[in-house]
Parts: sequence; C-alpha cells; structure tokens
Amino acid sequence: MSHTLAEAVRRTIRDVPDFPKPGILFKDITPVLSSPRLLQDVVNWTAGTYAGVDVDLVVGIESRGFIFGAAVAPQIHAGFVPLRKPGKLPWTTRQVSYDLEYGSATLQVHEDAIQTGDRVVIVDDLLATGGTAVAAVDLVRQLGGHVVGCCFVVELDFLEGRARLDCPVVSLVNY
Ligand code: AMP
Repeated sequence: MSHTLAEAVRRTIRDVPDFPKPGILFKDITPVLSSPRLLQDVVNWTAGTYAGVDVDLVVGIESRGFIFGAAVAPQIHAGFVPLRKPGKLPWTTRQVSYDLEYGSATLQVHEDAIQTGDRVVIVDDLLATGGTAVAAVDLVRQLGGHVVGCCFVVELDFLEGRARLDCPVVSLVNY
C-alpha cells in the first residue's frame, strides 16, 4: 500500500523551480493536502509507522509539520507539541539555533511541553539537509524527551540529511 501511496504522492507534489530563491526546487505539498484521499492516506501511513510503538507526544516543526503532526497525534493516542519560530509561543520557552545555507534559524518550544522520559516522534513535511530536524531532536532532548523517531512525507536523499540524525528515520517519498 505504501508503495502505491508513495507513487501517488510523488505524482501529486508540485515542483516549483527557484522558490524561495534561485537554485532551490521547492517540493510543494499543497496539492496533496487538497486531496481528501491522499491527505487521509498520508496521515494513516504515518500513524501506521508507529502502530504498536509507545508514543507520548508528536512534535511538529513549523509550519508544514503542524499539518501532518496534529492529524497523526490523536490517531496514535499521543499529544501534539509545536516547535515554533521565535516570538510566537506565549509561555516560557527553550530554544535552539542552527545554521542554514545562508544565515541561521531558531526553533522554540514551551519548556513544560515535554516531560523527562516522554517518548516523542518528530514530524515534518520534508527532510533536506537535516539541519532543522537535528535542531528539533536537540530541543526535545534538552527537555528530557526520548526521540523514538523522525517521520517525513518527503526526503531529498541526495542531501544526506538522514546521516545527520542519530534516531530512526522514515519517509514516504524519496528523491
Ligand atoms: P533542512 O533543514 O535543510 O532539512 O530543511 C528542511 C526544512 O526546510 C523543512 O521544514 C522543509 O519544509 C523545508 N525545505 C527545505 N528544502 C525544501 C524543498 N526543496 N522543498 C520544500 N521544502 C523544503
């Protein structure tokens, strides 16, 4: 089923050249979101990946990780925690900064959102260089969480982000 699903998602993703800057081929997942069938199937695939696994929290990375993460969390009887860009969360936060190709970025989380020993799955739409996901893993661990795995709808294999992650990684569609 996931092979067929992967093909359907691959066909549906829209490639947008030179967005958000020259040289980037942006994988636009919005056509997947607007298909009720594909959206449901992707969420089911993610939930199925963690069937029988003890997960307390799904952590979604702003902003497309929120879409899939929040849909998956109740299906696997887990809560949802957003990792947000700076200045968005109202309560006391922990943060981690990381390098991008040009400049840097920061992710924040509410410091009481993850308790010591919580078993966490990190969800985002796409794994590229892995910098964002490595930062997310770091933040979860800073709060005492145990990263059960990272899950992506799309993985850009040639950027080798997976090699930077020291936790189990799954992805549905690979380029
Ligand atoms: P990275 O930190 O390089 O792994 O980048 C991952 C983050 O950037 C994810 O949140 C993605 O949504 C976004 N991203 C990076 N490259 C692309 C791309 N080619 N198409 C769509 N989103 C991307």
